[in-house]
Formats: sequence, structure tokens, C-alpha cells
Amino acid sequence: MSDLKFCQGPECHKHKTKDRIKGMKGSKTYQTRRRSSFYYGNGNFCSTWCQDQWLVKYIEQALDQFGRTTEAKHLTEENAWYKDYDWDYTHDSNGTNNYFFRNGITKEQRPLTEEQYRDKSYTLNTGE
Ligand SMILES: [Zn+2]
Repeated sequence: MSDLKFCQGPECHKHKTKDRIKGMKGSKTYQTRRRSSFYYGNGNFCSTWCQDQWLVKYIEQALDQFGRTTEAKHLTEENAWYKDYDWDYTHDSNGTNNYFFRNGITKEQRPLTEEQYRDKSYTLNTGE
């Protein structure tokens, strides 16, 4: 396999596990884990430990780079919409989902298609 990727944990190679030992006899080293896919941190880390080590090392730079929260954000009617669904067992034994938007402040409900539910960019919210 050619599309293996490395764990992005800066300390991954320092975690001494058998599967990290690589290399020829006499020159074996503990190495950063390499896999076709990882489960943590959006597929970038082999474990929560490696994810945490990245966070510890880069958190300040990341906040400086992408912007710090410097004042309270407000949840208002305009940005309180979230997607939800109910199981409906009345139509068939497998059950179908009833998808809808619900407003966390007004409690208003609005219908939603399954396609709209799965579309992560589809929202009624305006602002953050
Ligand atoms: Zn790792």
C-alpha cells in the first residue's frame, strides 16, 4: 500500500509499543505509527494520547492563528436551529425517521427531508 499516512502526534515515536519498533536487526527504532487510516482527530491521530500531545504542543499557536474567543457568543433565535429526528414505528416494522429542525430557544419545529438532514452545510441558522 502506497497511501499510508503518519500519525500526526509529535510524541508518537516516544510511546514504546511493540508495533512501533521498525527497522533492520541491529538498528531498530521506535517509529511514528503509519496506517491507511486513523480513528482519532479527524483521521490524523492513532490515539487520543497522540491527539492530546499535539494539542499540548500547538494549542497556543493554533488559537493565535485561527482566532481566540475574546467576547461571549450569544445563542439567539436566529442561530438556535438544530437538526433532530424521531423514530416512527407506525408505518413499518423497520421504522422510519421523521427529520426536523428544532429551535433551541423558541422550540419551534420545521420539517426536514432526509437529504437535508444529512447535508452538513444545510442550516437555517444565520450567524455563529
Ligand atoms: Zn500516534
